[in-house]
Amino acid sequence: MSKQDREDNERGACANKRELTKRLPVLNLSGALDKSANNIMNVSRINALRNSINSHNDTVAKILLPSKETAEKKLQIESAFRVRPERSRVRVARGPDLEIQKTTDFLILPCDNNREKYGTSRDTKEALVRAVRPSDFDLRVKRITLARNNGLRIEAHSVDLTKMKDSSELVKAGLKIEQEIKLNPRLIINGVPQGLFAGEVESEIVALNLKEQDKSKMHLQVVYIFPPKSNRTTTNCIVEVTPDIRSLLLREEHVYINYSACSFSDHVRVLQCFKCLAFGHYAKDCKSTALCGHCAGNHELKDCVKRIEMAACGNCKKWSSSEGHSHSALDGNRCPILRRRLMDKIKHVNYG
Ligand SMILES: [Zn+2]
Ligand SMILES: [Zn+2]
Ligand SMILES: [Zn+2]
Repeated sequence: MSKQDREDNERGACANKRELTKRLPVLNLSGALDKSANNIMNVSRINALRNSINSHNDTVAKILLPSKETAEKKLQIESAFRVRPERSRVRVARGPDLEIQKTTDFLILPCDNNREKYGTSRDTKEALVRAVRPSDFDLRVKRITLARNNGLRIEAHSVDLTKMKDSSELVKAGLKIEQEIKLNPRLIINGVPQGLFAGEVESEIVALNLKEQDKSKMHLQVVYIFPPKSNRTTTNCIVEVTPDIRSLLLREEHVYINYSACSFSDHVRVLQCFKCLAFGHYAKDCKSTALCGHCAGNHELKDCVKRIEMAACGNCKKWSSSEGHSHSALDGNRCPILRRRLMDKIKHVNYG
């Protein structure tokens, strides 16, 4: 290559680089990095950094993607560029960002004719441990918990479930495997214009937020529209979607409905009593004494006179000695007990 050719090439490369630089947004780190002496990054700065990198990566993904690509390919490329891979995280409304555990979950149950032989879940566990060698089925157990009908629930990092289901060891021990059916994810959409019927909300979401090629994967159903509050022109609604539709909607910060840009998050509901803070029942059915969700006093949250003082968690005071108590029992971001409940809940949802 002559000197002139080399210079021409270098000029060409520079021109290409300039062209690409023009098309890419500037990565704005100044809002995210703390210039103060202690160099601590707070949550809003981390989010600013994350948003800036996500927006940069979105642009790169768009440059790489011809318009005819399939929805699946788009998701693959976009998630490869994501700082926060949405498919692996659940953003709980007014709650924490939770990582979806990638485990295979299944139940070990006594066969119908062995119900009497295995009278408790512990009996079933002993029988399983005697009969089945994990290494025969590539079974790497993360956790075993006791389950309904004298069964066990196994969360496994890996397992050859087909081989294990048909194994003679399991049959001889009088045990069987069942897999739990997972539910479709639900999203809560905020700021939906009032007065729309469920069908109208559904068709608006499809028309304004999903592309023609995505429609084959469509399952989108409004399951609840909150009764509108007085003096408000908008309300919130809950939609049930397939994991694919959830991922497609999560590519944008908003869901567009009519003239509104609506924020949205995953809807994960843990039933927690507002009167006594326990789980699994409503306040109207509560038979316990009141425990305040803010100060852990013996009164209901609505009657609390210490709302301006620091919060104290009645559940953590009662059940958890290792972690601090200075948070509200209703704060999923800070209460480890509520957070664990939320984690248990998302295990039963198919996020894809
Ligand atoms: Zn209660
Ligand atoms: Zn109180
Ligand atoms: Zn707590």
